[in-house]
Amino acid sequence: MSKKVRVRFAPSPTGGLHLGGVRTVLYNYLFARKHKGEFILRIEDTDQKRFVAGAEEYITNCLKWCGLEPDESPEKGGSYAPYRQSERKEPYHKYAKQLVHEGHAYYAFDTPEELEAMRSELKTDTNPSPQYDHYTRTYMRNSLSLPAEEVQALMEQGTPYAIRIKVPENETVNLYDMIHGEVNFDTNLLDDKVLLKADGMPTYHLAVVVDDYLMKISHVFRGEEWLPSAPVHVLLWRYLGWEDDMPQWVHLPLIMGPDGKKLSKRHGNSYGFPIFAMNWTDPRSNEFTEGFKERGFLPGAFINILALLGWSNESGKEILSLTELIENFDVKRVHSSGAIFDFEKAKWFNHQYIIQTDANTLTPLVKPYMQAKGVQVDDGYLFNVVALIKERCMLLSDFWEQGHYFFKTPETIDMPAIQDKWTEPKRNFFQAWLAMLPTLN
Ligand code: GLU
Repeated sequence: MSKKVRVRFAPSPTGGLHLGGVRTVLYNYLFARKHKGEFILRIEDTDQKRFVAGAEEYITNCLKWCGLEPDESPEKGGSYAPYRQSERKEPYHKYAKQLVHEGHAYYAFDTPEELEAMRSELKTDTNPSPQYDHYTRTYMRNSLSLPAEEVQALMEQGTPYAIRIKVPENETVNLYDMIHGEVNFDTNLLDDKVLLKADGMPTYHLAVVVDDYLMKISHVFRGEEWLPSAPVHVLLWRYLGWEDDMPQWVHLPLIMGPDGKKLSKRHGNSYGFPIFAMNWTDPRSNEFTEGFKERGFLPGAFINILALLGWSNESGKEILSLTELIENFDVKRVHSSGAIFDFEKAKWFNHQYIIQTDANTLTPLVKPYMQAKGVQVDDGYLFNVVALIKERCMLLSDFWEQGHYFFKTPETIDMPAIQDKWTEPKRNFFQAWLAMLPTLN
């Protein structure tokens, strides 16, 4: 590998961190460690409408719990802070203007109403969401279609504008993806994506390219849902004159639920199992979604499960520590088709980790589950219980179910009620047994 390996996890702070997101972190991290490179965290918070308070802190806490912490922080000396795009507006403006001056982007003055009118006019069954593209830009209100004096007048009047990329007509953009191989895109099907919005904020497309360049990113690991945007990014790398520094693309396969559909964080509560790394409460709706941590997963097990969701180890060995994952990780063995998440299998992994973990380590992790049941816990006593029953527990939360009788006196047994439920053979057995009891000595 010629270039120093530098990878990044670039989440938008819009909510809980789900399985797919943590797997992206993990593959970035494994790759960086394997190649003695660096892993950075960049918060992509330029979309003010989707910004959710607390999401950034939540993401950093999840990374901490998983043990996948970034290597670098822009804040020198002080406490850890990730890169935040909202704090880096200047370079985005500079490069957006450069693209306009060099004819690869243009000013678009269209109002939301004008855009809506264009879309509803062109909408058909075969074209349900018309784009702003090489065809529509010829008659919309932009610096390509309007006379230069009018553009200047609009600018002088302070008319709000966006900057859009000018996607070329009749070209093919090809890129090489380390998982999918050669992928080609017809530029006639691409949208003239907005690069800089009227509020002065860059869009994801501009900011991601500028930052990947400035931060010297060597490999972009991200979910496959970003593959359709990749040709626009490739064009920007080219138009900004940075093609030689373009990172290698690695678009990771989707993670699907047991129904074969893409796991979605919007349905965090509907699967019957967690999909977020840690508990998350959406501050806008107050909706609470349980996390793997609180459901009783050990971070090592959680990571092991995620590593195998879309990647397989050459030896076929399934229980792998983080060190073993780093040693064995190979992008060539990442699958191109989607991976189905199986919660029962995940519990099996956690069970193996609980068995492997000594009772000393487990005791403080089990303690909060006991305390939540309102029992006073003596650490020494809990240690003995944990050591005795850990083989029976799949999740940390199972320790209560499997061991509650060590902490509370059994309730009085209602014999007639129990006997009522006995089947005939059971009744006969117990009657014979009771009759025999006095004769035993
Ligand atoms: N901000 C994007 C996201 O939320 C990042 C995509 C990328 O890694 O390029 O997933």
